[in-house]
Amino acid sequence: MTTAAPAILLTPGPLTTRLETRQAMLRDWGSRDEAFIALTAEMRRRLLALAGGGDSHAAVPLQGSGTFIVEATIATLVGPADHLLVLVNGAYGERIAAIARRLGRRVDVLTWEEDQPVSPASVDRALAENPAITHVALVHCETTTGLLNPLAEIAALTSRHGKALLVDAMSSFGALPIDLKAHPVAAVMASSNKCLEGVPGLGFALIERRTLAAAKGNCPSLSLDLHDQWQGFETNGQWRFTPPVQVVAALVAALRQLEAEGDPPARLRRYRANFDTLAAGMAEMGFRLFLDAAVQAPIIATFHSPAEPWFRFDGFYRALAGRGFLIYPGKLSRADSFRIGCIGAIEPADFQRLLEAIAAIVDEMKTA
Ligand SMILES: *Cc1c(COP(=O)(O)O)cnc(C)c1O
Repeated sequence: MTTAAPAILLTPGPLTTRLETRQAMLRDWGSRDEAFIALTAEMRRRLLALAGGGDSHAAVPLQGSGTFIVEATIATLVGPADHLLVLVNGAYGERIAAIARRLGRRVDVLTWEEDQPVSPASVDRALAENPAITHVALVHCETTTGLLNPLAEIAALTSRHGKALLVDAMSSFGALPIDLKAHPVAAVMASSNKCLEGVPGLGFALIERRTLAAAKGNCPSLSLDLHDQWQGFETNGQWRFTPPVQVVAALVAALRQLEAEGDPPARLRRYRANFDTLAAGMAEMGFRLFLDAAVQAPIIATFHSPAEPWFRFDGFYRALAGRGFLIYPGKLSRADSFRIGCIGAIEPADFQRLLEAIAAIVDEMKTA
């Protein structure tokens, strides 16, 4: 259903954006004009700086949703003679494996339950037993549940084994710490419309320059070839094909706001305050979190659906939407659940209003 009042999006993206971000889209840009070339350069520079990337890495943006940049990165960096190990504990890990299989690449998968983090000891063993593996793919925050995987440990051990690490940081980049200087990572992938609080329409990867240089000719797709895309930016600062100009303008506005807010540490504090407000209020009403606190990222909260007959997710969702709150239906394979996102241009006061709405709806559902 649609809502009359502007809705607050409590999803993992697209999510609630600031007015200044949307206002940045109110003009036209010539994609090959100097002004837009400068905007693209500022965007690439700011994205790299957020992860502490210096000359070692390059930011390569690509048109499309987050999955497009994941597919482009795998297709460009994992060559026909390579062998990818994907670490899976949710839907986004599964998707990476599906992409690599579709590309005809050699793929192995290590799998954990959806409420369990990737285990560095098991990965260490798998790499020792399979010397043919060249690349490892990890989902930083597995948005399926909100689980945070141990990026620093996995980066240290893949580096020790001499493997290239590809990190899907779609739902963590811009809030949770990612430091390319401290952790050896060949590629970090993310998109405009999650913790960066831009609008949807582009993804980007921060890729080691030497890895990019060595990847010429790997990609079987013309439009997804990140080596060629990178060469385009390096030679004339321009996108190869029509860029989403308004999306770029909105992302640059959003990146300037991120700096003004106090960079990723300040954003993480706000998201944590959102999560804590939500978790405490939901616990008071008897809702239980799906994950243990030790592995929970403050990005998205997964709650068990109440088992009592009064609770039906459809009715709950529609009642919340009617009050201006759009939450996210769960897609766990194991447990009946629903999810509430904590990211976007929202703050604890919004979650207080959400909790009041949930309390009223639960009362209505119980007496209906
Ligand atoms: C959002 C997300 C993606 C990309 O999803 P799109 O719908 O294509 O934007 C990939 N990985 C993770 C972990 C995500 O959260």
